[in-house]
Amino acid sequence: MPRRPAAALATSGEVLRLIRTGEAVTRADIGRVTGLSRPAVSLRVTELLDRRLIVEDNEGPSTGGRPPTRLVFNAAGGVVLVASLGASRAQIAVCDLAAGELARADLAVDVEEGPDVVLPLVMRTWEELLGDRPVSLVRAVGLGVPATVEFAARRTESARIMASWTGVAIPPIIAARFPVPVFLDNDVNVIAIGEHRAVYTGQADDLLFIKVSTRIGAGVIAGGEILRGALGAAGEIGHIPVRDGGGVLCRCGNTDCLDSVASATAILRGLRSRGYEVTTLADVVALVRGGDAETMTVIRDAARMLGEVVAGAVNILNPAVVVLGGDVAEAFQPLVSGVREVVYRRSTALSTRNLRIERSRLGPGAGIVGCAHMVLDHVLSPEAIDSSA
Ligand SMILES: [Zn+2]
Repeated sequence: MPRRPAAALATSGEVLRLIRTGEAVTRADIGRVTGLSRPAVSLRVTELLDRRLIVEDNEGPSTGGRPPTRLVFNAAGGVVLVASLGASRAQIAVCDLAAGELARADLAVDVEEGPDVVLPLVMRTWEELLGDRPVSLVRAVGLGVPATVEFAARRTESARIMASWTGVAIPPIIAARFPVPVFLDNDVNVIAIGEHRAVYTGQADDLLFIKVSTRIGAGVIAGGEILRGALGAAGEIGHIPVRDGGGVLCRCGNTDCLDSVASATAILRGLRSRGYEVTTLADVVALVRGGDAETMTVIRDAARMLGEVVAGAVNILNPAVVVLGGDVAEAFQPLVSGVREVVYRRSTALSTRNLRIERSRLGPGAGIVGCAHMVLDHVLSPEAIDSSA
């Protein structure tokens, strides 16, 4: 590739980044920040206007004389299709280019039915949610799936846990219906991105998100970025063994994994073995509200084991905040308090000095927000903008 002169280094993609972040919002600002000549700025701005990625805003404050035209990122210039699939639920949405939700559907889905059943349902729902919007507005698709995702290959990888999805390459299936870039990540990573971007950006760039639901998993934000590990398997805390777990066989084949002793499934099983007739978490919530002592013991045991694993993770990662989400954490404040107690007791003094342990504030919507950000980070990056020109 020929070397470009320094003054030509800022591409259209970089100019878009300056406008999106508010670092430079007039043609003159862009020239100053990038060192580009006026014609070069004009060329890039015209291209971004033509692609509807920015619009001109002439409604500046009138201070006498004509104010310079402000350039504004055009969040309405396209949409992304996103879905966050949990083990038994799916949130499906159409978002604008600023991750704002335009339409959304929450469905009960048994993800174990496999991609042949679940993916067509998700795609049909996107079509319904798009309504009158033309498919040409769709710029990308993003999916969070309850499986480990081999990130580079965008392939699901959870042989022993969700057999029907193992090794499935999802992007080509979706691209056949929506011919745009398709991005895939683990559902908990996607929620961690959502929590970080919507609640903690600028205050905590090292965040550990733990989802306690039918299963237990973690998403790690380190230095503001999601940490996926070498192949995408980082954050699988559900399969870390605990002490005194009682010898419970986990679906992965090991015994006393955190997942098998502290998840919603484990709590329900623990209560049933004590003679309670419970089928859903709502039943357990009712028992806790009624002050049932044995139920509280089961929840406290789960909190202790969860706390021990989280304490280890805090020692390794030194997050500024641990966010507990998923329906178990949302339902039981004592679980959150129990984890907090164990972590403060067992993690190192420095790692807990300023540590906050909080319940999710976004709740079930976090997956959608995170999925939209994951996708937009890719498709609006300077490299993507320049290569799709
Ligand atoms: Zn396991």
